[in-house]
Amino acid sequence: MQPIRTRFAPSPTGQLHIGGVRAALFPWLLARRYGGSFILRIEDTDQSREVSGAIDTIKDSLKWLGLDWDEGPDIGGPYAPYIQSQRRTSYLDWANRLVHAGRAYADDRSTSELDQLRLDANNRHRPFLARDYRPTTKNQWQPGTVPLRFLSEPKAYTWHDEIMGELSAGADAVDDFILIKSDGLPTYNFAYIIDDFEMKISHVIRGLEYIASMPKYLNLYEALELSKPKFAHMPHILGPEGNKKLSKRDNAMSVLEYKEQGYLPEAMINFLALLGWNPGIEQEIFTLNELIEKFSLERVGRSGARFDERRLLWMDGNYIRNLPLDELYIRSEHYWPPEAESYPPQYKKNILNLVQERLKFLGELPQLTRFFFVDLPIDTALIKDNKKLAALSSGQLSALLNETLTEFNSSDFTAADLNLHLNQLLTRLHESPAVLFGLIRIATTQAPASPPLAEYLALIGKEKTIARIKTQLEHL
Ligand code: GLU
Repeated sequence: MQPIRTRFAPSPTGQLHIGGVRAALFPWLLARRYGGSFILRIEDTDQSREVSGAIDTIKDSLKWLGLDWDEGPDIGGPYAPYIQSQRRTSYLDWANRLVHAGRAYADDRSTSELDQLRLDANNRHRPFLARDYRPTTKNQWQPGTVPLRFLSEPKAYTWHDEIMGELSAGADAVDDFILIKSDGLPTYNFAYIIDDFEMKISHVIRGLEYIASMPKYLNLYEALELSKPKFAHMPHILGPEGNKKLSKRDNAMSVLEYKEQGYLPEAMINFLALLGWNPGIEQEIFTLNELIEKFSLERVGRSGARFDERRLLWMDGNYIRNLPLDELYIRSEHYWPPEAESYPPQYKKNILNLVQERLKFLGELPQLTRFFFVDLPIDTALIKDNKKLAALSSGQLSALLNETLTEFNSSDFTAADLNLHLNQLLTRLHESPAVLFGLIRIATTQAPASPPLAEYLALIGKEKTIARIKTQLEHL
């Protein structure tokens, strides 16, 4: 069997987004499953669209996710270079072969001339096909002057796609297209074919947007007399509504933004893997090794995969909950609120232990934990917005807090003892937990959410708890 060699071939045009990174994950999984090689190739032949720094951004994104490559721009490999702009001679070689075989021609027509031809076709209610309008004079082609265009041989095709199955298209889908632009650089349509061949790529796994061009590509493979890799076109990623392609307006973040927000790379990978791949079982949480073991192109679906950010959030929370505390502590390092700086590691670990259950991504830490480090200002809205508490007079609220102070006075402030006292207080005051504990929570945190009451109070300690209740009393 031919060794599995897959590639991720991004264009350095900006951040790596969800769709882009899935286009890296699927070929990576396939290569890892079969002990093959995964290649990173930079497709930078459209220099007008290039964004400086984008190559590093792409590499950083892959590294964060653990998608390592065996050959690529920085590490080299047997088929280096892995940056298209450095492979010009190769493209020109192959282009000249086509010229000599009479399968490519110089096209010196201007854009406006071509537009005119397009208009002409339109007026005759015909689709515009460049091959219907080949230039009549044959000019010698000089690279770097005018574009070189492929001379196609139209015919119908039937072919197999590893994901989309048996496909076919009529001869109308085959046309002449530009191979080398006037700047001497190849188009994507030409460069990828040459590179995939020279780099011995076994599987081209890419987005569905390329599938319509397959007949053109197949025609070019024949003209070049090249063996073809296997093709797998991944289904589109759809927006949250599931009715159209995921777009900028859906506000999905870039990979590095998810990283900054404190999503775990393993959750991200798990989530991305399920964007189109269907393991055929109920299980939703997969370790990386399980993904590698189970992944196959046959189980990638043909219809669009809905991008549901809530699912990502759920998944991330799931991974966070299952981290050992020490590991969570290490991963949380950069996410604490600034006020946490001077606090000892053990205190922070104890806090993590309390919030781990509800933490969905590490970027939520400040919001969930600030009150452990500082006395937050009194937030009057917290009582106002609580129906049960808002129904009580300030006299009644004060009475409850004063009773709490008395009760807490005799507690040693371990969680167990606090629980005991809190329960005594409930019985003694004939009050409901929703009211009494709700009020104590507000007084001692000034935050809309907090972990189990006795446990966090034990952490904050007696002195701070009493002081905060007294401050609340002054404001009632
Ligand atoms: N450079 C192309 C892109 O970024 C790669 C497509 C492919 O994988 O062949 O869309």
